[in-house]
Amino acid sequence: MSKVLIIGAGGVANVVAKKCAQNSEDYSELLIATRTKSKADKIASEIKGIPVHTAKVDADHASEVAAIIRDFKPRLVMNIALPYQDLAIMDACLETGVDYLDTANYEPKDVAKFEYSWQWAYQDRFRDAGIMALLGSGFDPGQTNVYTAWLKKHHFDRMDTLDIVDCNNGDHGKAFATNFNPEINIREITQNGRFWENGAWHEIPALSIKADIDYPEVATRGSYVLFHEELESLVKHFPELRRARFWMTFGDNYIKHLTVLQNVGMTRIDPVKFNGVDIVPLEFLKALLPPPDSLGEGYSGKTCIGCQVTGVKDGAPKTGFVYNVCDHAECFQEVGGQAIAYTTGVPAMLGGALMLRGTWRRAGVVNMEEMDPDPFMEEIGKWGLPWKYLEGASAQLV
Ligand code: NDP
Repeated sequence: MSKVLIIGAGGVANVVAKKCAQNSEDYSELLIATRTKSKADKIASEIKGIPVHTAKVDADHASEVAAIIRDFKPRLVMNIALPYQDLAIMDACLETGVDYLDTANYEPKDVAKFEYSWQWAYQDRFRDAGIMALLGSGFDPGQTNVYTAWLKKHHFDRMDTLDIVDCNNGDHGKAFATNFNPEINIREITQNGRFWENGAWHEIPALSIKADIDYPEVATRGSYVLFHEELESLVKHFPELRRARFWMTFGDNYIKHLTVLQNVGMTRIDPVKFNGVDIVPLEFLKALLPPPDSLGEGYSGKTCIGCQVTGVKDGAPKTGFVYNVCDHAECFQEVGGQAIAYTTGVPAMLGGALMLRGTWRRAGVVNMEEMDPDPFMEEIGKWGLPWKYLEGASAQLV
């Protein structure tokens, strides 16, 4: 039974808070602190069962976060705001001696680049303070890291290739919208792709490698190779991987809109003078697009996200695929959010619960695959994200 501070009140935070409230054995009291307090108030008003408080904070400033921590005295701080705030919140956790969790790795606001170096650099300070930072406890990164660790633990003596496949076959009925924070999402998709092969990163132009992937129970969809942050930690922690790639589906309509927005400069992240005022086109675009937490109502269809590994077990080559299918409409019915927010928020809640129980415990900065995958895999279905495992020909998607 622990008090927990959630920072942020967007689409994912809505799910995290509601799932924490469902798990009152681990979460006894929440404080949702965010930039626009009215959004936290709305989430809090929809939660019954455990006390939920709200506060205003600008989490770009470690001192503001530290002040809230000192006042509320949580055992864990969950950063469900944006990757820009990761380091300031980690600094506040160090200052106050409290555990930290997030769902996306740090990226600086003025460079569209995300990597773990900035957060891994906190390793010694967290270890010396005896506190834990669990990085990337969403679905991808997050559940995909646990899937990979579980495949290695139970099904492979040696993993040769890893393909993480992410399909959203849903329809939100909007001409163009992103399923999580538009700024972060568009920065991720428009940068060059990258995959790991034979000990080196290979960079490719954005969306230049495409394949049709047959996602079980969902659809066959055109999927593109992207760089995704869990690749960086997974090739570090499983150096046997000869190749590691990440694939994501995009419809033609989505790519058409994105191409036009890029061509006219609307995805730029450098300031542009307009009527004497500096505006960042991508930030302005975010203000025009539907907020991700508004997409839930009427969203139909399913997501399928999983990990396919090829390798060797007991001397014989084999292929394994572990995956989850999630239904947008069912998520909306349960928590008033869509499946992308749901699939991120549920692993955040369970990752946090395993930390609070001491089941996952190591002082320092930790990626999900470094922890024992079994307690997570045993419980995640109960919280709404059941998984299935296929082997052989049926597991060969890519
Ligand atoms: P939203 O844009 O819906 O919500 C972000 C929230 O953070 C908003 O409430 C926003 O406040 C708040 N916020 C932003 N800046 C600050 C600040 N300086 N101080 C305090 N609060 C702030 O994003 P999502 O909910 O869609 O995404 C949340 C996180 O989840 C992101 O980091 C995203 O990258 C990650 N994610 C991870 C996935 C995974 O599988 N691992 C998948 C999808 C998302 P305001 O309302 O005022 O703007």
